[in-house]
Amino acid sequence: MAEVRVVDLRSDTVTRPTDGMRAAMAAAEVGDDVYAEDPTVNALQERVATMFGHEAALFTPTGSMANQIGLQLLVPRGEELLCDADAHVVTYEIGAAAALGGISTRTWPAVAAEIDVEAVAAMVRPAGYHAVPTRAIAVEQTHNRGGGAVLPLSTLEGLRRVADAAGLFLHCDGARIWHAHIADGVPLQTYGRLFDTVSVCLSKGLGAPIGSLVMGSAERIEHARLLRKRLGGGMRQVGVLAAAGDYALTHHLARLADDHARARRLAEALAPCGIVDAARVRTNVVPLDLTKCAIDAPTLGALARERGVLVSVLGPRVGRLLTHLDVDDAGIERAIEVLTGLLT
Ligand SMILES: *Cc1c(COP(=O)(O)O)cnc(C)c1O
Repeated sequence: MAEVRVVDLRSDTVTRPTDGMRAAMAAAEVGDDVYAEDPTVNALQERVATMFGHEAALFTPTGSMANQIGLQLLVPRGEELLCDADAHVVTYEIGAAAALGGISTRTWPAVAAEIDVEAVAAMVRPAGYHAVPTRAIAVEQTHNRGGGAVLPLSTLEGLRRVADAAGLFLHCDGARIWHAHIADGVPLQTYGRLFDTVSVCLSKGLGAPIGSLVMGSAERIEHARLLRKRLGGGMRQVGVLAAAGDYALTHHLARLADDHARARRLAEALAPCGIVDAARVRTNVVPLDLTKCAIDAPTLGALARERGVLVSVLGPRVGRLLTHLDVDDAGIERAIEVLTGLLT
């Protein structure tokens, strides 16, 4: 009997490099990247900067490092960043903005991924000798804890106007900005031009084993090299990793539409169980709300695991499914069969 593969829907970070990606990694030309002499890294940085209409980009091992470098470029120590309470930069980066950047953060309440632009404008502190100076605003596209929601372009443009009026900078945590581009058809350059710094991940939906970039002006990215080294992120012959990212951009970007379609299929099949609001599923994230269920999220997670389906358990009544490169239509159907079996 054929081996039954586990359907791992916990995250889009669990993908493994494909044979084609491994071949590209093996063939990569390399050099010492601390000397900026790795041709494959340099080419990837140029490619990504151009995709977003920025002057320069810098390769980093993780999205957290790319974000923190972006924030440190914009916000001096002791000054303030505004973002939403569910933002990755204040939730999942282990206090790095404060611990490493000396950056004070103030958050607006997260309502899925929606942003009240006027309310954000009202948070900006006036200049003077009394208050922490507000220096930058950060947004997340797509929004991880917001269920993979896509912020409308008009909202981002509104924030740009707020930033310009108040003399603030704008950072985008674009770990999954690829998904927003595919879902809404907004050109990456349109997004890129709205922000002073942007971070992107190659190791999420795009399927590279590692790799992120931070981009901005040539001057900022020159400074970013120094900040990266200070964070311990100076790397050597990492063209082998950049080659994986380059391959991912060439082969795995357009196919994100398949992941979005599979997430919709999951959402529509699970909606009758009362745990998914299918209308809110726009990209590859399917949030599960088990408040009205007979079983809680840890129990669902454990029972599904026994049946070869892995789901993310985020709280007693909160779960999550993510579609990605390593789950095909057959895997989705198996997950639907297992989950609906447990929920009805
Ligand atoms: C995954 C992710 C990051 C970066 O995470 P790393 O694990 O540090 O690569 C940043 N922002 C968002 C929204 C993410 O989902």
